[in-house]
Amino acid sequence: MHNKGIRAKMTKIFSISNKPTIIAGPCSAESELQLQQVADSIVSDHRISMLRCGVWKPRTHPGGFEGYGEKALKWISNLQEKYPTLPFCCEVARPEHVELCQQYHIPAVWIGARTSVNPFLMGELAEALRGSGIAVIVKNPITPDVELWTGAIERIMQAGIDDIAAVHRGFTTYNNIGYRNNPLWQIPIELKRRMPELPLFCDPSHIGGQRGLIAPVSQMALDLHFDGLMIECHPNPSEALTDSQQQITPSELTSILDNLKIRSHENYTPSDLLPLRQELDMIDSQLLELLSRRMKISASIGAIKREHNMPFFQPERWQQVLDKQITNGRNLGLDEQFVKELSEKIHGESLRQQEQ
Ligand code: PEP
Ligand code: MN
Repeated sequence: MHNKGIRAKMTKIFSISNKPTIIAGPCSAESELQLQQVADSIVSDHRISMLRCGVWKPRTHPGGFEGYGEKALKWISNLQEKYPTLPFCCEVARPEHVELCQQYHIPAVWIGARTSVNPFLMGELAEALRGSGIAVIVKNPITPDVELWTGAIERIMQAGIDDIAAVHRGFTTYNNIGYRNNPLWQIPIELKRRMPELPLFCDPSHIGGQRGLIAPVSQMALDLHFDGLMIECHPNPSEALTDSQQQITPSELTSILDNLKIRSHENYTPSDLLPLRQELDMIDSQLLELLSRRMKISASIGAIKREHNMPFFQPERWQQVLDKQITNGRNLGLDEQFVKELSEKIHGESLRQQEQ
């Protein structure tokens, strides 16, 4: 299969630059007219470099709209001729999808969260993509597992594909409060630490699950040094066949982009940052010294408990410690959830020390 049009590109679609890469478009391709309306309204906005639309939709429950499949690829292919400067991307989940995308000269694809979680499928997709010239976006797996995400990306790289980006779309947790998918920012931050050359984008639409969260989540991502955003955008969100709560109109997208503060990532440190960083470094080493002292005391407590044949874990004592920490933390202006998680981590390590 020969590449043509955008696929004959010599340069990569995905790269890191001073300007964030913005990908926008509907959750699902619903008609050629719908795609054309989105393309018309974003093509002249040079901040937006790619159009997204789902063609095969992974639905949690059966019976819903599952995408127009090959019919939608024909629409994309027609529009791709009309808008040669605006590459389209769509989701693939099976090797047959990749073959069809190749036939219709789709320049880029994304691999969704329900697929990147599965190493067998990732292996099959990587083989199907090998030599295709298609650029690949790997969304994080639904589970908060940085190894699985890294492994999915490695499989694509091992198939000789070097035009790759990662997208952070949050993680599935039980009883989510606030977000549709918990952002757990430490996971994309760890991915960036491991793969600094890989462009990392954020999908505020699937993290937030509602229009009002798109702006703050996007700003958070840019503040955290993300390289771009993938935002769902529909000409008429309330009529959308999928994800209608989280899609915004092209004009709402423009206003969000107008208001985003793009931080400078140049490699210089303002002088007023230095003393504050020194203070942080000092506090960090004090924290470690205190933790080390605390663990030594835990080990001694463990020895005494063993001598008296006491169980290491005492639920009432742990409840008292936790309550006290949360109250103290609150008085010190610390977030309750943060104090709870920190205390659980310390307590877990403490128990491990006692049992040694
Ligand atoms: C999507 O982008 O429309 C989608 C289904 O994403 P995710 O795999 O992140 O849920
Ligand atoms: Mn969606």
